[in-house]
Amino acid sequence: MPILVPEPHDEICFREDGKRLDGRAVDELRPFSCEVGVIKNAQGSALVRHGGNLIYAAIYGPREVHPRHLARPDKGILRVYYRMATFSVHERKSPAPNRRENEISKVIREALEPVLFLEAYPDSQIEIYIEVIAADGGTRCASTTAASLALADAGIPMKSMVVGVAAGKAQGRVLLDLGDKEDKVGQADIPCVVVMKDKSISLLQFDGEMSLEEMKTGFEYVLKGAEIIYQKQLEALREKYNKITREAEIEDSAVGNLPQNEQKSINESQNAQDSLQNTSQIDEQMKVQNEKQEINNDHKAEPSPLMENSSAINESQKEVEKGEVEEKSKDEKSSEENIIKSSEQSANSTDDSPKQGENQSSQEEQQLNTENDSPSGDDQE
Ligand code: ADP
Repeated sequence: MPILVPEPHDEICFREDGKRLDGRAVDELRPFSCEVGVIKNAQGSALVRHGGNLIYAAIYGPREVHPRHLARPDKGILRVYYRMATFSVHERKSPAPNRRENEISKVIREALEPVLFLEAYPDSQIEIYIEVIAADGGTRCASTTAASLALADAGIPMKSMVVGVAAGKAQGRVLLDLGDKEDKVGQADIPCVVVMKDKSISLLQFDGEMSLEEMKTGFEYVLKGAEIIYQKQLEALREKYNKITREAEIEDSAVGNLPQNEQKSINESQNAQDSLQNTSQIDEQMKVQNEKQEINNDHKAEPSPLMENSSAINESQKEVEKGEVEEKSKDEKSSEENIIKSSEQSANSTDDSPKQGENQSSQEEQQLNTENDSPSGDDQE
């Protein structure tokens, strides 16, 4: 069976001063930074900048499995979608998912499954979407770091955080965290995912040639680099927690958790406002009652026009006039009622608890007055 041995690479990966082309020492990481909560619509999310890599990870779930036949009654399933943006590399990358992307999705899933409690989510799925916006070598490692951070941000319980970082070899020297060129021209590449709780390895791939001693050195570098990245992950999570705590404190102080003396002065001014409002309401009520009284008095004092003419007209004329006067008195009555209603409405608008009984009795009183003032009964007699 033929053994595929990679061709020797003679491209330069070191400067004259012995440092790597980007100025790093052999056991030095590329610049790394991360943040969480970067995608509002996701349950949890993270952004990782690792060297020239720019990677987003977003978590959805645990939620119902689609299609349903994939659901497992004994445990939840983890689905990982690693994708590279068309513009993430020098040449245009085809937007269709390729074999490499499917393979990387699979290895990231396998690296994360051991730290999740999937048995706690039967019939459910957790989805991790990873988008590589810019690629610069070692994207599967940086993507795993981002996915772990996003899971923590989503509040999904984990046995441990995981960190992805690679070791490798170029020009006969063992290196930590290979860049794109080192990855392509180097002699070996070992992407690793470290479970930070016990420093076990949940993913190890190997591509190239290395002696056992070189591999041991490589793993030492990996553990050292993983610890640095892990501290940055914790820092990002702490930063978000502190931000939420600060916002909650500001909200609390705005709502009512003010110091006692401030609360007291607020209460006093509130009481003063209440009493002012009550006084003005009483004034309005009195004004309306006075108006009603005046209207009643006016009608009582008015002599009935029919009374004045009653002696001069005969019975038939009386009948005719009676009809006219009844109509007139109806008009008057309705106009009076309108006035009273509008007065009462204005009274009600000032007082939120209208005294219905009072209104009713004053209306009855009005009706009685009108009836008394009208010529109907007396005149006929
Ligand atoms: P990793 O990114 O995990 O190292 P690979 O070793 O497969 O994975 O890829 C090495 C680098 O090659 C990637 O980081 C990326 O910069 C580049 N690369 C990968 N796929 C493509 C592609 N389709 N076109 C151009 N460059 C690519």
